[in-house]
Amino acid sequence: MKTRYGMAVDTVRCVGCNACVIACKTENALPEGGFRDWIVTEAGGTFPGLWMQIRSERCNHCSRPGCVDACPTGASHVNEGGVVAVTHAKCTGCKACIAACPYDARYVHPAGHVDKCTFCLHRVRKGQEPACVDVCPTRTLTFGDLADPESRVSRLKASRRFQVLQPGRGYEPNVFFLEA
Ligand code: SF4
Ligand code: SF4
Ligand code: SF4
Repeated sequence: MKTRYGMAVDTVRCVGCNACVIACKTENALPEGGFRDWIVTEAGGTFPGLWMQIRSERCNHCSRPGCVDACPTGASHVNEGGVVAVTHAKCTGCKACIAACPYDARYVHPAGHVDKCTFCLHRVRKGQEPACVDVCPTRTLTFGDLADPESRVSRLKASRRFQVLQPGRGYEPNVFFLEA
């Protein structure tokens, strides 16, 4: 079966410590002001029914990635395991992909090309976890093959309630936010 990488983010476990953000910056030598993952905190409701959710967000490596469709040079493409990637040398920095991504997952690197999460494919190819997954002290993040029903990420998806971000956009995200 064809590998389809994805990630589960357990919103019950995340404490918003930012270790995943710092690990990503270090692992991928990101420039000042450049981020491939980030923390979103949302709160709402009225007392006593208040709620708060902390989410570690990144590119959703969408199954229908509008960013790839929008790229005029082929720099944005779908790599092994469905990972959406940018070939830096082919990127002109036109920002068409940034405009097409409803998740704000991309930024312009000071070198002129667009940059984003790669699911740390360079680590995954060596049998390692993505840097953010590896460092998370609360085991909030689970990375793996969604095409394998026995993988941890597939089992979490099958056994827990979850949401994807902005499902109405039709991009079919592969990052799943597990809920209580
Ligand atoms: Fe949440 Fe883990 Fe990231 Fe900390 S490292 S913010 S607990 S996902
Ligand atoms: Fe493209 Fe944005 Fe989807 Fe990532 S989250 S694959 S950058 S549309
Ligand atoms: Fe950053 Fe890698 Fe995590 Fe993506 S998978 S957010 S590149 S550490």
